[in-house]
Amino acid sequence: MNFHIMTLFPDLVDTVLSESIIGRGREAGVISVKLYNIRDYANNKHNKVDDTPYGGGMGMLMAAPPVCDCHDAVCSGIPSDSKKYTVYMSPKGKILDHKTAVRLSEYDDLIILCGHYEGIDERAIEEVVDEQISIGDYVLTGGELPACILVDCVARLIPGVLADSACYEDESIASGLLEYPQYTRPYEYRGRKVPDILLSGHHENIAKWRREQALKVTEENRPDLLKNHTI
Ligand code: SAM
Repeated sequence: MNFHIMTLFPDLVDTVLSESIIGRGREAGVISVKLYNIRDYANNKHNKVDDTPYGGGMGMLMAAPPVCDCHDAVCSGIPSDSKKYTVYMSPKGKILDHKTAVRLSEYDDLIILCGHYEGIDERAIEEVVDEQISIGDYVLTGGELPACILVDCVARLIPGVLADSACYEDESIASGLLEYPQYTRPYEYRGRKVPDILLSGHHENIAKWRREQALKVTEENRPDLLKNHTI
């Protein structure tokens, strides 16, 4: 899968997405992350991409022409038979969840537009964006960190990025519940011991304990998840 990120701060995004599992997925060629600097499409002497909003108000808006020209350039590099989709990271979008990540993982080319300042001229959004996605009910200074979050949660669903797909199928949210508590060595730490059941070697009892613990932590922290969960 190819991620195409349109941003005014490509280095910021590249740094975050070059480390650890996502970085290794890129190196292995399982996913690609291409960065496009919207400023390269400013087409004016001072590379200016923002302007004051019509009607007045605080701050600056990213203008439509560089955003649309950059998007045209991204699309011109994508084969016409590829399944592509453009999302704009925005607090006005629907909130990102696991189902959305699964749906987006089915595209060949995912184009992600990052806003900055007070956002983007509405005409550019109408022109190039298929869907707006928010990462939560708060406002950040730019769409770069939201884009990294989107790439991270979509990329780990792509076969070959994680060692085993069971890694995410058993996890919080994807399984429908929050994950049970996990432990590793040492057996005893600051007076706290690993629950005996996990050392018993009895797989059925361990699975039963984990299920009970998952239900308990879900009940405590996210009772809303239990409404749609069949036990
Ligand atoms: N004026 C905009 C509004 O009230 O909806 C907020 C603009 S915000 C300061 C600048 C950029 O940060 C946005 O264009 C968007 O790309 C990004 N951003 C901020 N909060 C976000 C969130 N919760 N989810 C996704 N992107 C966000």
